[in-house]
Amino acid sequence: MIGRRRHLPSCALLMLCCALPARAAHILVDVGHTPGQSGARAASGRAEYLYNRDLAAALARALAALGDRVTRIVPGEDGIALAARPAVAPDADLFVSIHHDSIQPRYIDAGRQGEFAGYSVFVSMRNPQPVRSLRCAQAIGEALREAGEHPSAYHAEPIAGENRPFLDRRRGVHRYDGLVVLHSARMPAVLIEAGVIVNPAEEARLAQPKTIRGLATAIARGAHACLD
Ligand SMILES: [Zn+2]
Repeated sequence: MIGRRRHLPSCALLMLCCALPARAAHILVDVGHTPGQSGARAASGRAEYLYNRDLAAALARALAALGDRVTRIVPGEDGIALAARPAVAPDADLFVSIHHDSIQPRYIDAGRQGEFAGYSVFVSMRNPQPVRSLRCAQAIGEALREAGEHPSAYHAEPIAGENRPFLDRRRGVHRYDGLVVLHSARMPAVLIEAGVIVNPAEEARLAQPKTIRGLATAIARGAHACLD
C-alpha cells in the first residue's frame, strides 16, 4: 500500500493541499486562575485550575493538529496578572481563556447544584475587536453544540452576580464587558466556561478524558474556523 502513495494522482495532491488552512493561525490559550488562587471548587473538592489546565492542554493539541501555532499560558505559583496574559503573545490572532463554572453561593447553600449544567462563552464589547471576538465565540458555541454539548442559561439571569445578557442564546454566547482578561487583549478574545464543576454529575463527566478530548476538539474547530 505504501508503494501506491508514490503514484498519487495530481488531483489528489491538490485536494490534500487545499484541505490545509490557508494560513496557520497563532492562538493564545490561557489556563484560568493559578495554583494558589484556583477558582471554583468542584463537587469533589478538586480545584478549577486543574480542570482548566487539563482542557487547555487538550485544546493546544487539537489546535496543533489543525496546523495552528499555540502559545499556552500555564500560571505557576507566582501567577500572572489578568491584564498581562494577552500580552504574553501580542501578535497572536486569538486569545482563548479556559475556565470551568460555579453557581451563585445561594444556590449551593440551597443544595441546587444538580440543576446547573452546560457551557458558556463570553465576549467583552470593550475588546478592541468586538465583531471578530463575537464571530469566534459564535463559532466555538456552534461547534460545542454540534459536539452534543448544551449551553447553560443561568448567567443571563437578571440577578446580582449574573446579568450577563445573551448575544447569541442558541450558541450560549454572553456579553460580559468587565472581564479584564478579554478587554485587555489587543487581539479578538473569548472566555469559555466549559461546564459546571460544582454539579457532581457534570463534574464526573467533565473529568473523563473522552469528554475533555471532545470539548477540546470542538473548541479548536470553532477557533480555527473563525479566523479563516
Ligand atoms: Zn474560572
